[in-house]
Amino acid sequence: MTAVKMEKQLFGTNGVRGVAGKEITPELLITIGQALGTIRKGQIVVGRDTRTSGDSLIKAIKAGLCAAGCDVIDCGVLPTPALQYLVREHFDGGVMITASHNPPEYNGVKIIEPDGTEMGDEETIKLEALIFSRSFAPVLWETAGRESSCPDLIHEYCSSITGLFPDKPGKGMTVVVDPGSGPACITTSAILTTMGCRVLTINGDMDGTFPGRLPEPSIDGLKPLSELVISCGAAFGVAHDGDADRAVFIDEKGKFVEEDLQFALIAQFICRKKTGTVVTPVSTGQIVEMVITKEGGTITYTPVGSIYVARTMRSLLGNGVNVIFGGEGNGGLIFPDHQFCRDGGMTAAMMVSVLSSTDKTLSELIKELPRRYVLKDKIRTRKGKEILDGIKTDYSQEKTDYTDGIKILRDNAWILVRASGTEPIVRVIIDADDPDKCQDFHKEIIQKLERYG
Ligand code: MG
Repeated sequence: MTAVKMEKQLFGTNGVRGVAGKEITPELLITIGQALGTIRKGQIVVGRDTRTSGDSLIKAIKAGLCAAGCDVIDCGVLPTPALQYLVREHFDGGVMITASHNPPEYNGVKIIEPDGTEMGDEETIKLEALIFSRSFAPVLWETAGRESSCPDLIHEYCSSITGLFPDKPGKGMTVVVDPGSGPACITTSAILTTMGCRVLTINGDMDGTFPGRLPEPSIDGLKPLSELVISCGAAFGVAHDGDADRAVFIDEKGKFVEEDLQFALIAQFICRKKTGTVVTPVSTGQIVEMVITKEGGTITYTPVGSIYVARTMRSLLGNGVNVIFGGEGNGGLIFPDHQFCRDGGMTAAMMVSVLSSTDKTLSELIKELPRRYVLKDKIRTRKGKEILDGIKTDYSQEKTDYTDGIKILRDNAWILVRASGTEPIVRVIIDADDPDKCQDFHKEIIQKLERYG
């Protein structure tokens, strides 16, 4: 029932990405549009984030789709989850031009299926074969696709979230929103205001040069947000990545809330209301499983990548399992009552709901969570496969999990070793109940990596 990872050539875990004008060119996007329009017919909705290269690239994808006979609806700038919601509600597919959290010079393509989820591996491999073989022909004049625009649909997405919180739980709560000059400038503040919050905004003008901070919401880049949260006495600050499918938080004291803790806090809130399973990749911190099992819930692990989480959630639900929540330990959370994709606007709304249910502050709630120690490392090597094979043999007598890479579980701790599919890198995550144990495991695994790499 758990989605399985398959190797692709052009598309990574979250679509195609690269430097605009070098790897990501209008020519490539016309080809992707033609290939996609060959296997997906009907009305395809397109949108983009605020990057400066977005204008030319969206025109190219539209040209390819129309040339293949699809009718194209251009929604302009909007968050990826907004486009996913609109596809599910109204259209036969979607294309989002975005490079998510990557720096301003990057851009990319995410392909959305009619159910609102990102295209799975099997279909992506078929699409790649068409792109490489170019075995498609433009349709003739009678069946050429047409373009129309529909920018007002964004309100429908915002209402789909606020409709889940009819009691206005944000009344009396001050929140600071940092959309990072990205597409959430037109959604998150509106959503939280409708929920009753008093909203202040920083980096709130859409600008593809990202003058305030980079699209990745890092602790350093969020310092001005932290300062504003403290100075205006806000309950929390929320920031998004470049396409607003992720949200991260600053507590009322101006401190960055580590993403696994944010995931655990919201999981705890949901598991206290509902009984069921939560779906997440094997790389997510142990704290999330600890909180869920304490509240009587169960956890299902998938390979790393939101598409595997979303598709496993759908598949489990189809088999009668009560799936109540899902997400990744990077601020990308999936709420099945809303839709099956990561949604930063929905995550911000849920944090309002969490805080309105208690007299405690965000920092107090975080402090009450169990304490874990996480160490992340990456090693540059081209021998990823040899390393993984060697480690599998070395640890064959221990408790292991092969959902993605190799996870070695020992003594209330684990080590996850994964070879990157796109870079010459082996990633290591260690999660333990004790900092010394973390260091000891790190030393042990690095020695192994040096031996095989
Ligand atoms: Mg993103």
